[in-house]
Amino acid sequence: MTSAGGTTRNCVKCGRSIAFDANVCPYCGHDYRAVMAGPAAAPHEKGMLSLVGGIMILISGITGLAIGGLLLAINTSDLDQFGLGSISGVGDTIHNILMVCGAIFIILGLIAVVGGYFGVRRQHFGLVILGGVLGLFTIGPYGLASLLALVGLILVAVAKKDFD
Ligand SMILES: [Zn+2]
Repeated sequence: MTSAGGTTRNCVKCGRSIAFDANVCPYCGHDYRAVMAGPAAAPHEKGMLSLVGGIMILISGITGLAIGGLLLAINTSDLDQFGLGSISGVGDTIHNILMVCGAIFIILGLIAVVGGYFGVRRQHFGLVILGGVLGLFTIGPYGLASLLALVGLILVAVAKKDFD
């Protein structure tokens, strides 16, 4: 029997005695460096939460863009239908307010879309959070876009480790 000192160990693959610090088994060729590096070097497994969160923020951003586009598409003659254009100056004032609101929604929506896009790609965590926060103001039908942005924000924040 060979005495098993501190300088040898048994190969986990072929069972033969090899040098304790051997990187590769001289008998079967089992590579211990690959095993040691395995868990650390393996590509980080990315969860679904950050993906779903990114998609939610993306949708809130698209909703914001749609609302902004609708507001910008309204013109003064449309307001006439409601009798607002007949009052001197009022139609223009409301129109200007709608234009400003539309522009704000477009900007919010754009940043939320960019944030959501990077959320799906699991990049630029800070930008994704910014997009989600701005997505909170996109409101949408029944406030659903804001709700999506809120849930998306939470999911992304929980899955922060997914981001590079
Ligand atoms: Zn071996």
